[in-house]
Amino acid sequence: MSDQSPTPFAEQLAACWRMGRTGRSAEALAESRRLYGLVQDAEDGPGMAECLTQIAWFCLQLGLADEGIDCAVAAKELWSQHGRTHGHANASAIYSWLLVEMGLVDEGFAEAETAMRLAEMQPDQGMLAFAMNAKAIALMYCRQDQLAVPLLERCLELVAGFDLPSERSLYLTNLAYSQVSMAEAAESRGDMAEGRRLRELAIVNNDRAIVAADGCGDSWSLRTALCNGAEYHVLTGNIALARTYLARWEAVAGAVGLRERIHYIYTSAELLTHAGQLAEALALSEEAVALAADNANADHKANTIRRLAEVHEALGNFEQALGLYKQFHIAYQRQMGDVTRRRAQLVEMQLQTRKLQARAAVFEEQAGQDALTGLPNRRRFDAAIEALRGSRFCLGILDLDHFKAVNDSYSHLVGDAVLRRAAELLNGLGWGMRAFRLGGEEFALLFPDLDIEPAAAVAEAVREAFSRANWSDLGPGLRVTASIGLAAAGRGMEQAEIMAIADRRLYRAKAQGRDRLVASDALEELDLLA
Ligand code: GH3
Ligand code: MG
Ligand code: MG
Repeated sequence: MSDQSPTPFAEQLAACWRMGRTGRSAEALAESRRLYGLVQDAEDGPGMAECLTQIAWFCLQLGLADEGIDCAVAAKELWSQHGRTHGHANASAIYSWLLVEMGLVDEGFAEAETAMRLAEMQPDQGMLAFAMNAKAIALMYCRQDQLAVPLLERCLELVAGFDLPSERSLYLTNLAYSQVSMAEAAESRGDMAEGRRLRELAIVNNDRAIVAADGCGDSWSLRTALCNGAEYHVLTGNIALARTYLARWEAVAGAVGLRERIHYIYTSAELLTHAGQLAEALALSEEAVALAADNANADHKANTIRRLAEVHEALGNFEQALGLYKQFHIAYQRQMGDVTRRRAQLVEMQLQTRKLQARAAVFEEQAGQDALTGLPNRRRFDAAIEALRGSRFCLGILDLDHFKAVNDSYSHLVGDAVLRRAAELLNGLGWGMRAFRLGGEEFALLFPDLDIEPAAAVAEAVREAFSRANWSDLGPGLRVTASIGLAAAGRGMEQAEIMAIADRRLYRAKAQGRDRLVASDALEELDLLA
């Protein structure tokens, strides 16, 4: 399960990522779409997965959630097919964030848990932090800030030793945001001192985020943090200071995405409302409504209309305000309808993926190859043993020990990785042995032209190879052993007979404590057979 992708596009993809990381998201999106076309032509699976992951991220930054979702789902599928846990965790974290952005908070939270589980299986601490941040975002949307804050603090610890200013800025921004929400909660229960303390903390963290983003040229993070900073100062009545943040926002170089533009307008309108400049606030809010009207995101539509209604209300234009509140109500209902529609689309998409997987399984079955491990499957095994009928050969049945416990304690994904690794091991050993996957965690080993003693020596070496192999890169502390039952084909023996003998011996290997080879019958069994 190596995560190094030796694709010829790797350098171009890395350059594209850096472009996105320095605020040029729109250009980076165009470039990643172009690269996707190239890797697709080259049938470079991991390259495609990387492109799709990047497209999903840039779509998130630019507020193109629909396209982002499609790409994130496709990326996840590809990473999983190629056993790349790092990429899979990344796509999963981005997917989770996109789901939350679309209002599918429950789904987003569940996906963030998947991202965390995947990230825990691979060594990159930065990726673990990114997945943890996704979980924190889902929690922030559910107003569970007291749970989000410790996660975000842990994210910052994880990246502390590394040169990851862009990520640091992101986590600090989110931490500050959560702290402000907690401050509001404290104030609403009357704990003004705690509210003040949290607001001050948030401003300090947000300022750190600004420094980090500025230092590395990440203008997307920089704009986000500047807007948030302006809002925090408005809320503490520091209008003059808030203005300096917005002035800095305007001075940040580079193209501005729709998501950022709307954020800026919201914040400015809020500032102007607080400063009593209601006419200017009105003009800006109208601009936001117009911008959102051109965008598919119903969320933006509803929110911009509500803000405009609030400004009219503050101005005493009650008739307009009422008309807008009615519009808001309609837009809000549409937004809820959108969420339901998206949820249905999501279910449909997952169903399609499952159908495709089922179809692929049928094809692979027909082709004689096991989908997960690439080993020849049961069908090929039947043909192979049929071809050996009447000749000298031995059959081993190998079953992984306590495999259910691997799935239970490390996840099904790790279980799959173990099966793939087991297949690699069996294939790599040589000695004229042929391995097949019979199903589940059970493998057949064929030893053409061998009597039981030399076959047993090879089978014993196989057992030892499993128990000596290092599995801990797949899961911390993971150990895998196998039990083998071995049988020699007797004259005129049917396949079912030799299978039964090997199976019986496998059963004894298990009963005797596992991690062993049994190549002969026990005395009492011989008695019984006689
Ligand atoms: P024993 O030592 O007695 O063989 O114990 P065990 O846990 O290995 O045996 P059991 O037959 O109870 O469990 C086999 C498990 O293998 C149950 C099933 O969930 C799991 N399994 C079967 N196929 C797959 C697969 O393709 N991927 C994963 N991850 N697990 C699988
Ligand atoms: Mg087993
Ligand atoms: Mg089994």
